[in-house]
Amino acid sequence: MESLWLKQSRNGSLAGDPSGDEEIGEEIEMINAHTELYGIIGNPVRHSLSPVIHNEAFRRMGLNAVYLAFEVKSLEEAMAGIRELGIRGLSVTLPFKTQILPYLDTIEETASKIRAVNTLTAEGGNLIGYNTDCRGALEALEEKVDLKGKRVILLGAGGAARAIGFGLKEKGCQIAIFNRSENRAEVLAKELGCGHHPLSSLKEMEGEVLVNATSVGMVPFDAKSPIPKDVLRRGMVVMDIVYKPLRTRLLQEANEKGCLTIDGLEMLARQGAAQLEIWTGKIQEIGQIKEDLCEVLEAEVSRSGGRA
Ligand code: NAP
Repeated sequence: MESLWLKQSRNGSLAGDPSGDEEIGEEIEMINAHTELYGIIGNPVRHSLSPVIHNEAFRRMGLNAVYLAFEVKSLEEAMAGIRELGIRGLSVTLPFKTQILPYLDTIEETASKIRAVNTLTAEGGNLIGYNTDCRGALEALEEKVDLKGKRVILLGAGGAARAIGFGLKEKGCQIAIFNRSENRAEVLAKELGCGHHPLSSLKEMEGEVLVNATSVGMVPFDAKSPIPKDVLRRGMVVMDIVYKPLRTRLLQEANEKGCLTIDGLEMLARQGAAQLEIWTGKIQEIGQIKEDLCEVLEAEVSRSGGRA
């Protein structure tokens, strides 16, 4: 992966061909007084792969922009700073996806229904909130299956499950929520107009599609699957949104059972591409984003001696 260098003219204007066209400008450091700032706010945030997605895409697009991770303690103070410093766009992660709503001037329709924002853009002094988790997950699923009328088992009732659940509902799916704690499941099921059950009660699979939106299977608890292997059936579509590790235990077992599997990078890459489209107006190639992410994940695995 190349570092953040770009062919650019000395006055800071974009000369933009990172491929190495000799005729354009001189090679100087990309960051200068014209560099536009994007980032992610959350806590914790140091594990985030979003800086990889966005800095690599900015470099490919030849944009004079940089994306940083901000570990935020006070959302109120951070939001004042964002307006004042002219930050162009932000990703928003735990625990701020819902807390951020009162700080925004406009909330796009999907984000407003989900009541969670994972992306914001500053346009003419206005902060506008979006939810690209929903779009990312739905696009990843629709690549493999026509969702209309499908019975979908949704594991989890947290922020990601919420975003995915609203998207599934709009696609006309019959959803059943399985979650560890009943009260959270009940709230989401009521909003989606569907049934809910304890996660531990999933003994038989009555669905064509299963989505794991719990954090079970994520490092350091990657030896676990949220469900017993014997409930998986050949031909089912199984998506795990956990991406560390990439081949979760659930996906390994689903593969062994002859299911069609979708890993967490598919959603991650697509939600990031949707953010880039909001910020730059340009459509990104998903394959390239996945390549960037795989490279970083593989490097992490090799550094940690085989563990993701
Ligand atoms: P969250 O709001 O904290 O929700 C966590 C969910 O996991 C809840 O349903 C929780 O159940 C369940 N859970 C946690 N530990 C559990 C355990 N030991 N046994 C059973 N259930 C357990 O988190 P989130 O934002 O929804 O994220 C969930 C996962 O999705 C994380 O791994 C995150 O990294 C991943 N994610 C991936 C993407 C992507 O683009 N691929 C995007 C967003 C999130 P309770 O309600 O009982 O606590």
